[in-house]
Amino acid sequence: MTASVAVIGAGYAGLACAVELARRGVQVTVFERSHTLGGRARVVAKDGHRIDNGQHILLGAYTELSRLLRLTGGTPKALERRPLTLHIPGRMHLQAAALPAPLHLAAGLLFASGLAWRDRLAMLGMMRFLKRCRFLVDPAWTVAELMREAEQPSTLVRQVWEPLCVAALNTPVAEASAQVFANVLRDSLAADAASSELLIPRVDLSELFPVPAARFLAVRRGKLRTGTAVEAIERTPEGFRLEGDPTTRQRYAHVVLATAPHHAGALLASAGGCDRLAALIDALPAEPITTIYLALGETVRLPHPMIGLADGPAQWAFDRGQCGGKAGLIACVISAHGPYESLSRDELVLAAHTQLERELDRRLPAPEWSQAITEKRATFACRPGLVRPGLRTPIPGLWLAGDYLDSPYPATLESAVRSGTAAAAAILRGA
Ligand SMILES: Cc1cc2nc3c(=O)[nH]c(=O)nc-3n(C[C@H](O)[C@H](O)[C@H](O)COP(=O)(O)OP(=O)(O)OC[C@H]3O[C@@H](n4cnc5c(N)ncnc54)[C@H](O)[C@@H]3O)c2cc1C
Repeated sequence: MTASVAVIGAGYAGLACAVELARRGVQVTVFERSHTLGGRARVVAKDGHRIDNGQHILLGAYTELSRLLRLTGGTPKALERRPLTLHIPGRMHLQAAALPAPLHLAAGLLFASGLAWRDRLAMLGMMRFLKRCRFLVDPAWTVAELMREAEQPSTLVRQVWEPLCVAALNTPVAEASAQVFANVLRDSLAADAASSELLIPRVDLSELFPVPAARFLAVRRGKLRTGTAVEAIERTPEGFRLEGDPTTRQRYAHVVLATAPHHAGALLASAGGCDRLAALIDALPAEPITTIYLALGETVRLPHPMIGLADGPAQWAFDRGQCGGKAGLIACVISAHGPYESLSRDELVLAAHTQLERELDRRLPAPEWSQAITEKRATFACRPGLVRPGLRTPIPGLWLAGDYLDSPYPATLESAVRSGTAAAAAILRGA
């Protein structure tokens, strides 16, 4: 197997693709415009702190990413494993029990606090409703419509379903696809206790998979060109040539375009003959995510590594000190569009600090250090009926990979790596 493959983008999708190809002896070159690996899941160095561009969580159901972590030599210690826990200080606590489904949820609901019995029964009712329809719902429904159809009380929607929906789909319930939400529930909460486990990275997001993936490539003759942006894709009779490739004479039998959707359109268009596909990708709506880091000093510890926050703007707070990070470093996450977007960086920091004090019901030290990072196009908005592209393009040998490709799931690390390994499999099948 000698055909060489170029992968554009060293995010989780591009690196998953490259790892799978290199494992099978394919000569692979990865181009990454940044000097940091990981794309939308990467480390950021600020004022001597190493933080992520955004706090991420993984689920036990991320089977493909888990396989790749094992393959590239990742250690289980890189992930803090916790049973699915919804803890909103002073309001509710729900933790899935270490039992087979559906007992893990039933037992969790039995011992939950802060949830009315009506809400507990309604939550089980929702899972029954979805099972009855085999997790296939009207593709035009939003999650809000699903809630109405399954007769979910408004308290339960507010306390449980809304935060879960925005965490999983990065889209508010009024706009989010009920079918994709049902898929996520099917493969996590309705599967087994292990699939619904929360995995919080204890290392930074570049160190979690991209760096081990790069090492894996290096020992298999793979090339990784960081700080190298591909400007255009050109078709020649001998194969693809990439503008920006320092080895100007190199031709590739296949190219995998593994950039974020907002970078893919222009590169596709440069190859010619892909205008409709490029327009489809450019039209995908996007949602932001803001992560506000507050270094509050070693004495500050949250009641759990991850807690829910009830009264905005942040929906979740993570205690990085309990997940391998600096003690007292708290990451507050605001998902999807909202009024908070008009706030300045300082106002965001103040709003998150005030919210934490209010919800923890205690005074907190002033931040020793703080940072707010907004990813304006963190994920696509996961709405009903959204048309997402597949991995094939109209040009033989030119493939797509990325979290936005057609799949049962929203934009996640798992959908990114699945798309990457699917592109690799398609190339290997055709080779
Ligand atoms: C703040 C935030 C929080 C998130 N939280 C979660 C979470 O909790 N759980 C979860 O599963 N997912 C989460 N996600 C989503 C997850 O990060 C993405 O789905 C995933 O990282 C996408 O990977 P990708 O490889 O498809 O794309 P990207 O990560 O965007 O990778 C594309 C790469 O291509 C490179 N590139 C672009 N143009 C060029 C070019 N011309 N030449 C060379 N290289 C180029 C980019 O620099 C980038 O490195 C979150 C995302 C963000 C932003």
